[in-house]
Amino acid sequence: MRTAVIGYPRVGKDRELKFASEKYFKNEISENELKDTAKRLRRENLDLQKANGIDFISVNDFSLYDNMLDVAVLFNVIPDRYRELSLSETDTFFAMARGYQGEKGNVKALAMKKWFNTNYHYIVPEIDDNTEIKLVGTKPFDEFKEAFEHAENLKVSIIGPFTFLKLAKYTGDKNISDFEQVLAKEYVAYLSKLGENGVKWAEFDEPYLVRDLTLDDIKLFERLYRVILAGKGNIKVLLQTYFGDVRDIYNLLTQLDFDAIGLDFIEGKKSLELVKKNGFPADKLLFAGVVNGKNIWKNNYGKSLEIIRKLREIAGNDNIVVNTSCSLLHVPYTLESEHKISDEYKKHFAFAKEKLSELKDIAELADEKDIKKASASEKFVANAELFKNRVDSVDEKVRERVSNIKESDYERSPEFKEREKIQKDKLKLPLFPTTTIGSFPQTIDVRRNRQDYRKGNISKEQYIAFNKEKIKKCIEFQEEIGLDVLVHGEYERNDMVEYFGEHLAGYVFTEKAWVQSYGTRCVKPPIIWGDVSRKSPITVEWSKYAKSCSSKPMKGMLTGPVTILNWSFPREDISIKESILQLALAIRDEVLDLEKAGIEIIQIDEAALREKLPLRKSDWYSEYLDFAIPAFRLVHSGVKPETQIHTHMCYSEFTDIIPVIDAMDADVITFEASRSDLQILDSLKENNFKTEVGPGVYDIHSPRVPSVQEIVDALGKMRSRIDDSKLWVNPDCGLKTRGIPETKESLINLVKAAKTVRG
Ligand code: GLN
Ligand code: ZN
Repeated sequence: MRTAVIGYPRVGKDRELKFASEKYFKNEISENELKDTAKRLRRENLDLQKANGIDFISVNDFSLYDNMLDVAVLFNVIPDRYRELSLSETDTFFAMARGYQGEKGNVKALAMKKWFNTNYHYIVPEIDDNTEIKLVGTKPFDEFKEAFEHAENLKVSIIGPFTFLKLAKYTGDKNISDFEQVLAKEYVAYLSKLGENGVKWAEFDEPYLVRDLTLDDIKLFERLYRVILAGKGNIKVLLQTYFGDVRDIYNLLTQLDFDAIGLDFIEGKKSLELVKKNGFPADKLLFAGVVNGKNIWKNNYGKSLEIIRKLREIAGNDNIVVNTSCSLLHVPYTLESEHKISDEYKKHFAFAKEKLSELKDIAELADEKDIKKASASEKFVANAELFKNRVDSVDEKVRERVSNIKESDYERSPEFKEREKIQKDKLKLPLFPTTTIGSFPQTIDVRRNRQDYRKGNISKEQYIAFNKEKIKKCIEFQEEIGLDVLVHGEYERNDMVEYFGEHLAGYVFTEKAWVQSYGTRCVKPPIIWGDVSRKSPITVEWSKYAKSCSSKPMKGMLTGPVTILNWSFPREDISIKESILQLALAIRDEVLDLEKAGIEIIQIDEAALREKLPLRKSDWYSEYLDFAIPAFRLVHSGVKPETQIHTHMCYSEFTDIIPVIDAMDADVITFEASRSDLQILDSLKENNFKTEVGPGVYDIHSPRVPSVQEIVDALGKMRSRIDDSKLWVNPDCGLKTRGIPETKESLINLVKAAKTVRG
C-alpha cells in the first residue's frame, strides 16, 4: 500500500522562513538569501518525506507567502495598481500580500480571509475587467525541477480552478463566467508544461467541493474539468478534496477522467458512506485521508485500518493510497523539538514528522493480509493501548459544574436597550468613542522580558516592574493623543490563547509547535489535554494596575471560550460543546473578578468565532452555533447592567450570521472591516443590528499608515449605515505585530479623524 502527503509545513521547524522574510522586508538580507533559505527548507521537507518512504510527495506546496497568491501570480492575476509600482517580481508579490508604502507608491494589500475552517489565512485574488488570465509564472516547474534532482516519486500540487474562481473577488462588471474558459485553457497549458518537464502526477486541490454546492457550481466544475482533463496528455491527475465530504458531486467526480480522487475520512462525515453506496471506479486510485492534518493526537490505527479495509473491498486492493486528511500545514513540525512535555503525555501526540511514520505504519499494517496477525503486532497493540486511558484528563468537579448550568445562566439582564442607556449615562463617552483592540506593539524588549523571566534570568518582581513601566508609558501615550477608552497593552501575553491556557488547568504547552497563520505570522496553539478550570485570577492584577494609571475608562481584556477552543488543539475524547462550556465557566470567573476589581469595561475577544462554523449550512446551528453563542453569553451574563461588555472578532465574514452575532448580547463589538471593503455594513443595517459597533477603520495587518482623510472617509461610509450613537472608532485588530512608529502615527490619525467627524 502506497502513502501520500497533501502538503508539508513550510515556515521551517525553527520558523526560518519567517525570520528570513522579515529580514528581507527590512532590507537586511538580499532576495537571493531569502530564496536560499526557502530552497533549504524545501529540501529538508523533501528529504524527510523521502526518508519515510512517502510514495507521493507534493511539490509546489511551498510558498513564500500563500498558495492562493501563488496561483494568482502564476496566471497573471495581478491588479494594475501593483504592476504600476514597477517593483521586482518578488516585491510585486509581497506588495500584493502586505501592501506597499515607499518611494514607488502607496497601495494597500489584497484582502485576506480564513482558509475554510482553519486558522490559516489566504490572500484573496482580485479579478477586474482588465485581468488577462495567462500562464506567466514558472514556480511549479522550477520547484519540480529542483525536487526532481533528489527524488522521483513526486506530484505537483496546485489549487484547482474551481476553488480559485469561487474564492476570488470580482471588482469589475465581469464575473466567473467571463473567466472560466480562459482559466481552464491556461490550466491545460500548465499541465502540458508540467508534461514537458517530465511530471507524472498533477494534483488539483479543490477544497471548495466540500461546501454546499449549487447546480450552477456543479456545472461550472464540470465545464472546467472537461476541458482540463481532455488536455491532460500523459499526465495523471489527482483531484484532491479536504475539510469535509463531497456529497453534492461525488458521482460526477467518479465519472470524470481523473486518475485518482482524494477524499477526507476525518472531517468528511459522509465520505465512507459515499464510497460504500456509490462504489468507486476500478480504474482510479483512491487517496484515503485517514491521518488527521489538523490535530495533533496520535492516529487510532484500529479505526484507520477499518476504513482502509472497507475501501479496499470496494475500490480494489491496490487502488488505495494512505493519505493525510488535508495539508500538514495546519500542524507543527515535530515532537522532537519538545523537551518539556513528559513522555506520559507526549506519547499521545503526532506532529507533521510523526505523522509521516503513522502513514507508513498504517500502510504496513494494512499490507498484512492476516488481520489477526496485524492486530497482534507490537505496533498495533502499543497504539491501541493509547486510547484506553489518559492520565489527568478527568476532573469530576468540572463535570459537575457543567451539568449544573441552568437555562437562566445563559441570559444577561436587563435587556440590551436598558443597559445601553445605563452605560451611556455612566461612562459619558463622546460621540464616536475611540479605542483600540487591546495589544500594543510587542517590541523586542517586551518579548525579551518575558523570555528572561521564563528562563529564570530575572525575578518575578523584575518581570512585573518592567511590564508595569510599559503599561504606564502606553497609557500615557493613549491619554496624550486623546483616545477615549484605554487598554493596558497586553505586554504580559505571548499570544491571546496560549496566555489564558497557561493559567488554566487541563492544558499542555509546547515550546516550538508553531503553525503558520498567515505569511510570516505563526501561532503556537496549546493542547487541551483534560477538563479545564481556572487555577486563579489571570489578568486582574494587570488591569487593576492599569486602571490606577488613568482616570479614563480602562478596558479589561480577555479571550472568549470559543476562540480559546478554536485556537487550541481540541480533545477528541469529549465533544467540543463540552469543552467550550468548561472554558466558558473558567472565563466567567475571570469576568466577575475583573468587575469586582472595579473594571467597568470588559472585552471578551472572540476573534475566531467564525472559524469552526461548519462548512455546510445545514450543520451550522446543530453542530456549532446552538452551543457556541450561549457559551459566550454564559461568560458575561453575571455582570451588572452598568458593566460594558465588548467583544472583538477578526474578519468581518459574518454577513450571513449577523443575527447570531447580535445574539451574543455584547454591548459593543469591534471587528475587521478595512481589508474587506466595508461590505458588512449594509448587512448590519438590513438586520437592524442592535449591538454598538466599531468596524475597524484601518488595516493593522500591514505597516501602512492610514491618512486622516482616509479614516474620515471610512467613517463617512459607516455613518450612512450605522446610527451615530452606536458607532465606535478603532483599528481593526490588536497592534501587537506592528512597530511603534506606524502605530503611533496611525492612532494619532485615528483620533484626529474621530474629532473631525465629531466637529
Ligand atoms: N485583544 C487581542 C489583541 O489586541 C485581540 C487579537 C485578535 O483579535 N487577534 O491582540
Ligand atoms: Zn482581531
